[in-house]
Order: sequence, then C-alpha cells, then structure tokens
Amino acid sequence: MRNHSGPRVSKRRLLAGVSEAIIRYGAPIWAEATDRQCCRRMLASVQRPLAQRVVCGFRSMSYSVAVLMARLIPHHLLIKEDARCHQRYFADPEASRAVIRREERAVTLEVWQREWHANASNPGASRYARWAHRLIPEVHSWMAQKRGEVDFHLAQILSGHGFFREFLHVCGFAPSPECPECTGSVESVVHVLFHCPRFAEVRRDLLEMGVDGSITEENLGQMLLKSSDSWIRIQEVACRITTVLQVRWREDEAALNTLANSTSAEATVNAEQMQDDPAAARRAARNRQARARRAQERVEQLGDVELASAFRQLYGPAASDATSSIPAAVPLLLEATATVDPTPVAAAVAVAEAATSSAAEAAPRVAPEVAPFSATTGMAPPSSPSSPNLSPRRRRQAQR
Ligand SMILES: [Zn+2]
Repeated sequence: MRNHSGPRVSKRRLLAGVSEAIIRYGAPIWAEATDRQCCRRMLASVQRPLAQRVVCGFRSMSYSVAVLMARLIPHHLLIKEDARCHQRYFADPEASRAVIRREERAVTLEVWQREWHANASNPGASRYARWAHRLIPEVHSWMAQKRGEVDFHLAQILSGHGFFREFLHVCGFAPSPECPECTGSVESVVHVLFHCPRFAEVRRDLLEMGVDGSITEENLGQMLLKSSDSWIRIQEVACRITTVLQVRWREDEAALNTLANSTSAEATVNAEQMQDDPAAARRAARNRQARARRAQERVEQLGDVELASAFRQLYGPAASDATSSIPAAVPLLLEATATVDPTPVAAAVAVAEAATSSAAEAAPRVAPEVAPFSATTGMAPPSSPSSPNLSPRRRRQAQR
C-alpha cells in the first residue's frame, strides 16, 4: 500500500481491524501460547507491517513504536484480554459484557504502559525508541486522543525514521549525518525542527505563534495532545520540513546514481579491454589523450580561424594572410574603412574583438564602425539601419 495518495488513515485502520479480527478468532483457546516469545514474535511479524502501513511510516520503524503510533493494541495483549473476558462471561453470564470489556481494556492498557516504559528504559533500546517514548510517554492519553491521525510526515517526526541525514546515514543512504547547511551539526529531528536556519520561516509561522503558545523542544509531546490547533500546527511543520528533505534526498540520490553508473561503465570497459588485449587498451588510452590534446589546440586557434573566414568573405583569399597577426591586420582594416562600405568591415572587426585579446587593443581605433554591431557575433541588430547605397551582395554579407 502506497504512502502517498493511498487510502486515508481511517481506512487503513479499518483494513488493519479486519486482519485483527481474523487473528483473534478462537483466541481464548490458545491465549496461553502468547506467553512464549516465539508466538509473540509471530504475532508481531504480522502486526508490525500493518501498523507501519496505517501511519505510512518507514519499514524500519520498530514494532513497539509502530503499534503505538497507529493506536493498535499489540496482538498478544488483545488475545489475553479476550481470554480474560471469556472467563468472566463464563463465570457470570448475567454480567454486562460492555462493563467487562471496559474493565479488561483498562488492564490491557496498564500492561501495555509497563511494556512501553520497559522498552524505552532498556539499555539496548534504540535512540529512536527513546525519542518516541519522550514524545508519547503515556499510552492511555495517546489512545484516548481525538486530535488527529498520524500521517506520512508526522510519523517521520515522531519516530525519527525519515529523510533526516542522521537516519539516512545509519541506513547507509547518506555519506555523512551532518546537515549540509550547518557545519558540525547532525541533521536529526531536533535539529531540523528547532535549530536549522533553513526552516526558520516554518518555525516563525507555525511553532512560535499559536493559540496555546510556542512549541519548543521540551513541550513538543505535550503540545501534540493539548489541542487540535497544536496538532494541526505540528502536522503542518512536519509536512513542510519533510517534503523539503525528501526532495533534496531524491536529488542527492539521482546525482550519486549518475556518478556511479558513469564510473562503473568506464571502469568495466577499461577492465574488459585490459583483459582481452592489453596492447590495444594502451593504444586506446594514448588515442584518448591525443584527441583531448588536439581538441584543446582547436579551441586555442578558434579565434584566428573565425577571423580568417571573415576576411576571406570581404577581400578574397589574399586578405586572409593578414590574419596570422591581428595587429598587422588593423592597418588593412583602417584603409578599407576609407574606401569600402564600413558595414562589413565593422563586422570583421567585431569578430576579431571576440576572437582574441590582441584584437581588443585595436578595437578603440575603429570604435565608430564597431558601435552599431554586436561585440560577440559581429551581426547587426535588427534595428540597425543599413546604408542606402549598399549593393544586394554587400547587404546579404552584412546581414550574415
Ligand atoms: Zn542545519
């Protein structure tokens, strides 16, 4: 089931309830089996992905955190509760079933609360489980809240399993846990929520102003359950921040994939060539170096080539000999401007300016003719007036 554009959280909870009803069928008969760890693990392996899908969370989210966020009572506790209710119904058929269920549900929540505290205080507990316990310490109040549902973005904030570099680095998806904007700071949930300057505007708009006061690192969990306004504000903050982080992560991933593909493809070709014919591989390497050297030389000679082409168009093949030295060509240009229509001459000078730095030294001497033309292309702009005495051939050359 997709995290984005899939069913709403309420519908996901309904689907999870269907599987829960199937598992609880005949539970009083085999409830004692849930005392064994192997049976609990089997039940958890079924419920964990259900809970993760309900809150659209990452698949790395632990079982205890996922079921709490999804507000799904652990299966082994539910089965025990069913067994206790069944025994009480059997012992007192006249008793109210609703009352029995309510009382046993309170017992179930108490047991769940003890397990939740024990899980977070365990020395082997992950920092993500401790972070979730810090935000949601009370199971009963969390299960009773009607403020809203945990969605894809809020689940990342509450669990710590999201597009934060600290988490991505742990999973091997980021080279470093550091924030790209803050040198020396780990990009964790707390950092992006309360410290990173990238999201200062989000904090100013949503966290620092509200009906119930500011939301800080210390009261984040309390404010989440305080009112619907606080819930919506935190949910909006989570959406805006994690969306930015997700987009950035996808860009980083695309860049890394491109680099890895190009490097591996080139390395594969070289390795295959070296394995098949070492002499041919060495020749290919020398040819690549020679091609690169010739390309560099062509770039360096490009200015002279353009200038020679321009002179050849104006004065024929003989004139192009002067282009071997740009300063030597300048007197020819000045002489030409006195007898020939200045339009094409100015175009040639503009090309010379763009081509080499030596032409720039001569440019002020012919500046009046250069002025109406583009310094980079040597072409007249559309608004530039042409000479009324210009022949059709000269006009075409000038427009070219
Ligand atoms: Zn930062």
